Amino acid sequence: MGLWHEAHLVFNVWGVEGDRCYLGRSAKPTTGAGGTKIGNDGGAECRVGGEGVKREVSRQREGDASRVTDVGSTKIDDGGSTKYGVEGEDVEREPCYFISQKRRICNVEFRAYSHLDSLVSTFITAIAYCSSVSSCRAIHARVIKFVNYREGFIGDQLVSSYMKLACEEDAEKLFDEISNKDLISWNSLISGFSRRGQVNKCLNAFSRMRFEMGMQPNEVTIISIISACTDTRALDGGRYIHGIVLKLGMLCEVKVANALINLYGKCGCLGSACRLFEAMPLQNLVSWNSMIAIHTQNGFTKEGMRLFNSMRRAEIKPDQATMVTVLQACEDLGVGKLAETIHGLILRCGLFANIVIVTALLSLYAKLGRLFASHKVFGEIINPDRVAWTAMLAGYAMHGHGREAIEFFEFMVKVGLVPDHVTFTHLLSACGHSGLVNEGKNYFNVMSEIYGVAPRLDHYSCMVDLLGRSGHLNDAYEMIKQMPMEPNSGVWGALLGACRVYGNTELGTEVAERLFALEPLDSRNYIMLSNIYSAAGMWKEASKVRALMKERGLIRTTGCSFIEHGNEIHRFVVGDQSHPESEKIYKKLEEVIGKIRAANFVPKTEYVLHDVDEELKEDMINKHSEKLAIAFGLLVVNAGMPLIITKNLRICGDCHGMAKLVSLIENRTIIIRDMKRFHHFANGLCSCGDYW
Ligand SMILES: [Zn+2]
Ligand SMILES: [Zn+2]
Repeated sequence: MGLWHEAHLVFNVWGVEGDRCYLGRSAKPTTGAGGTKIGNDGGAECRVGGEGVKREVSRQREGDASRVTDVGSTKIDDGGSTKYGVEGEDVEREPCYFISQKRRICNVEFRAYSHLDSLVSTFITAIAYCSSVSSCRAIHARVIKFVNYREGFIGDQLVSSYMKLACEEDAEKLFDEISNKDLISWNSLISGFSRRGQVNKCLNAFSRMRFEMGMQPNEVTIISIISACTDTRALDGGRYIHGIVLKLGMLCEVKVANALINLYGKCGCLGSACRLFEAMPLQNLVSWNSMIAIHTQNGFTKEGMRLFNSMRRAEIKPDQATMVTVLQACEDLGVGKLAETIHGLILRCGLFANIVIVTALLSLYAKLGRLFASHKVFGEIINPDRVAWTAMLAGYAMHGHGREAIEFFEFMVKVGLVPDHVTFTHLLSACGHSGLVNEGKNYFNVMSEIYGVAPRLDHYSCMVDLLGRSGHLNDAYEMIKQMPMEPNSGVWGALLGACRVYGNTELGTEVAERLFALEPLDSRNYIMLSNIYSAAGMWKEASKVRALMKERGLIRTTGCSFIEHGNEIHRFVVGDQSHPESEKIYKKLEEVIGKIRAANFVPKTEYVLHDVDEELKEDMINKHSEKLAIAFGLLVVNAGMPLIITKNLRICGDCHGMAKLVSLIENRTIIIRDMKRFHHFANGLCSCGDYW
């Protein structure tokens, strides 16, 4: 917040005579075509300069439409490390640099300017840099004193600036004061409302513009309103604009059609989006990207992939937005082979140098259980940034490689990268997943003390998990009580999990009550409490919880396990007999269970959540979906290759125990991803250390 004070300082000295304000750098404004470029959050560019400015403003107004970023393109958050380009060279956001720039621009004695153009240029520059309401108002006052709102379209720019600073009222008042408003003035107002998600105000201003002023919209107006409708899922408003677009014959504008496709897609009307897409005379990259993204986001992942193939056949070269969407689709489909194919394509398209894409790729491999592939991709990145390092750390964390995660983190710090709150979330979760209690506590302390990262909800839930895991349930509870913010379901959920593991029914009941209040419709909490009661033999309480669940209309999600084989995902549910190889699978399962019995493994029937007799319980538990998937995997996956299985719920204790023994008896690595984490079973042990 140092900049805010700086802004005040700037305005206090504003108008002081002489050259005392020219601190540090040359006060002479940069002039001409090579003016300093500053990226702003709208993705547009404005040029800072002297005489060049007004010319530049006119150019921007002529090409106003080009300032509107295509709505279909995905904006990737790079973790906040926004870079500001200065004449080709990258400059990290650095307060001192900014401050001196601000001084250079703002500390100008207006009376020294004889030429109106220069004065207007200075105002425009000051507005572009304006970062607080008070400074915007101060500039506004100067504008009123020295120039006219119409000079250099300063009025419109002030309107945009007030909007950006969330001062809609000031913006509207000023807008009403501007005389001879043209289309660009209206666009400033409408796009301002659009950015603030005020769809009704957008539409009101649009009606005033058309009916009171008799003006017709252009591409910018239309795209701004569609974008507001998309963000707020205002389908009716969007349809109304679609009608106007048809009436004005604007549908042939690619950007307008793309915006409408995106609108319909985001509102779930895929049919309308497809019709628009097919009717386009020429689809561009953004059109294809939108179509792939909306299908994937609406759960039609396979159709999204089909569109991606069609796009390639149409010889449209994919870009970052395409690849990130497609990698997301691979994650949804859970097919490792597909990820490998996309990996090859990334290399062929020369996109491997794109850090956003490769980071998404390495995350994907980790999520699909292929940590070795993630590691390989990371090793090939030439200059990994913080996001890439953090993604790799997250991979270690979710696979329960706590020691590696810590080493990796220390190495990351050593090479000069500054960890952020996301990095610490994964680091703490890595400590939690591997039972590194002391290390976790230590990092929780140093994150704020040394790295200045204040703990957030995620960090607290990692710590509660960590303490709960080591059996310090009361310490975990104390930590929750002392949290500076309201604990969320993640935090309470971590404690409930610990209550289950340590069989603490009393605390478990209390925690579950809180969770029921926070998330009354999440069936997982009810199941967890019912599990706690069942494990303690409190059948009456367990059935009460199940009755409550029924009363609230919640159904237990059916447990399924998935395993990839032969370009296909094979799905199993408990007692499944639908698989064509079912007979062989049961035979293999029987054989494996026989071997395990011989090794004296007693089934943990407490994990069957029904109050039924022991024999029946054992029969059900032996047909759990994980067991069927393991048996199938043993039949079809080549020796030496790991069995990679995904389970939609938490793995039960009996299947966990069985997987450990199978890894030993059959000498296979088994990787099971359950709802919470990855379990790597090898040589009779699991990477989770039996806590999950
Ligand atoms: Zn099981
Ligand atoms: Zn495990």
